[in-house]
Amino acid sequence: MPHAYDDQNIFAKILRGEIPNDTVIETEHTLAFRDIGPQAPVHVLVIPKGPYVSYDHFAAEASEAEIVDFARVSARVIAEAGIGLGEGGQGYRVISNAGSHGTQEVPHYHLHVVGGRALGRMLAAPQ
Ligand code: AMP
Repeated sequence: MPHAYDDQNIFAKILRGEIPNDTVIETEHTLAFRDIGPQAPVHVLVIPKGPYVSYDHFAAEASEAEIVDFARVSARVIAEAGIGLGEGGQGYRVISNAGSHGTQEVPHYHLHVVGGRALGRMLAAPQ
């Protein structure tokens, strides 16, 4: 089944400039901005500018230029936040939720970059 992209999602509105955002880095293909409800001292969302729903959609269908740019911007976010191991930081977590099992709220692919404190185990016990 093809991935159906809803262009009324809130990140599409941010990309069109209809809603403000707290930009960290912007490039030709990628936008990184602070999460409105941070879960840790560092909580930045990295999104492609193209209409991709999820990690697998982006990884399968985005151009190499988009994928490389997204990866490099993610690395810059980590480096500039001082949480990367190469910067002497204490580490971080990157998360991408997809669909109902992944509890994805916004159906535009995004990577959460979270750090600045000890984050605990990756997954909570099943409810
Ligand atoms: P997810 O559950 O992975 O889809 O996460 C969506 C994330 O988007 C949540 O962490 C929200 O706090 C965040 N979010 C929603 N609206 C905005 C917004 N206008 N600006 C920044 N972050 C937002």
